[in-house]
Amino acid sequence: MPAPIPFDNSYARLPEAFFAHVSPAPAPTPRLIKLNHALVMALGLDPEYLASPEGAEIFAGANIPDGAEPIAAAYAGHQFGMFVPQLGDGRAILLGEVIDTSGTRRDIQLKGAGRTPFSRRGDGRAALGPVLREYLVSEAMAALGIPTTRALAAVTTGEPVFRERSLPGAILTRVAASHIRVGTFQFFAAQGDTAALRQLADYAITRHYPAAAAAPSPYRALLEGVIAAQASLVARWLLVGFIHGVMNTDNMAISGETIDYGPCAFMDAYDPATVFSSIDHDGRYAYARQPSIAYWNLARLAEALLPLLATDKDQAVAEANAALDRFSDHFNAAYLGGLRQKFGLSEAQEGDTALMQDLLARMAANAADFTLTFRRLSNAALDPAADTDVRALFTTPAAYDEWAVNWRTRLERDPIPPAARRTAMHAVNPAFIPRNHLVEAALEQAVEHNDFTRFEELLAALATPYTEQPRFAALAAPPPPDQDPYRTFCGT
Ligand code: AMP
Ligand code: MG
Repeated sequence: MPAPIPFDNSYARLPEAFFAHVSPAPAPTPRLIKLNHALVMALGLDPEYLASPEGAEIFAGANIPDGAEPIAAAYAGHQFGMFVPQLGDGRAILLGEVIDTSGTRRDIQLKGAGRTPFSRRGDGRAALGPVLREYLVSEAMAALGIPTTRALAAVTTGEPVFRERSLPGAILTRVAASHIRVGTFQFFAAQGDTAALRQLADYAITRHYPAAAAAPSPYRALLEGVIAAQASLVARWLLVGFIHGVMNTDNMAISGETIDYGPCAFMDAYDPATVFSSIDHDGRYAYARQPSIAYWNLARLAEALLPLLATDKDQAVAEANAALDRFSDHFNAAYLGGLRQKFGLSEAQEGDTALMQDLLARMAANAADFTLTFRRLSNAALDPAADTDVRALFTTPAAYDEWAVNWRTRLERDPIPPAARRTAMHAVNPAFIPRNHLVEAALEQAVEHNDFTRFEELLAALATPYTEQPRFAALAAPPPPDQDPYRTFCGT
């Protein structure tokens, strides 16, 4: 019988300094909570086997399938601006890699499967709530079309984990294009290990930026590739109201995927200063600061790569700066281009940026719901009678009316026919996002009552976020107005 999962583990073939061999702590009584069938198929795996008790044991760390080589990766990182030379996978264990049906190499990793040499004071565990939260939010991001790690499975372990109180333990199986972070480069750079740094860069080029290999300066091309990917990623976050919450350099993937769903959340009312994370006291990772933080993180990557960019130090710094200088162009192109689509503007015209910023400022001043404003604007683009639904989102509805006059004047100068415009707007302005109050309600029902009905329902609605789904209408609504400010906590 062939191995149930055809592993091919390239990262484990790198030198020992890159990782530690580890064994997952087997869960005593694993129970499969959720298996992502679509992702199982995309990975070319066998859904029946993975849903069987033997398969579920794989996701619980209790069955190491043939070909798996469990390792915990070493990395460093800047956490809230402070450099920590040794972090590493403290509660994540890479089982191995598979080549998916599109030919892409993907990591399969257990998150919450026990202690590793990098656990420091942590227990290596995960609680059910944060596991389901990552499952919901990362799958929502994928369905929104935003590059992200995916959730393959969630299991409960049958063991309690202790946080402020005892909680059911769980493991998330995460799938990623890779788990190489900015912090992985920093790990070797901080040690002055240029040979390892070069090996890592070569590995990242082969795996993520193969075209860079043929560039005049492959490492500069690698840096530029990551800069472009991250600029575009952060633009996509802003366009859906996503706040990552903990953009430390160890949580920024070289692949350009969103990674590490801890205190992240989507904003309801538009406010550029929105912060949800309980530990982000200064708003370092606030919604509107995400582009500048991404740039800061990329500058740390450039710094780490300096020894590879040129033998002459000044020359290397000049190369790094030239690459970093491209960030704002990439970001602005992605962000303004995306905004234009959200507003139904099919081509760039003078005054667009001011027009769009004007509505955003009015939304902020009027606590207008970010997602619903744009979703309803899509309808108003075709039928001015739908203005009623948009203006109702503003504390002072006239603030919308004034702006809408200018918007309509601009729409008249746009070549796209109104019906096609509405369709195009619906395709970029989601009706469904993982609303905080709904996510919390789903987690509460699951954790306190072992009932996954709301979790499943929310997951189903979020699977096609751009489609009207009348049966899920309640899941598109903003939170009740009297709700306390939402707070998130790091997924420990
Ligand atoms: P994060 O803030 O989730 O990105 O985690 C930062 C660091 O803490 C990483 O090295 C994690 O592996 C580690 N870590 C987080 N939670 C735990 C835990 N429960 N046990 C061990 N290590 C952890
Ligand atoms: Mg992390």
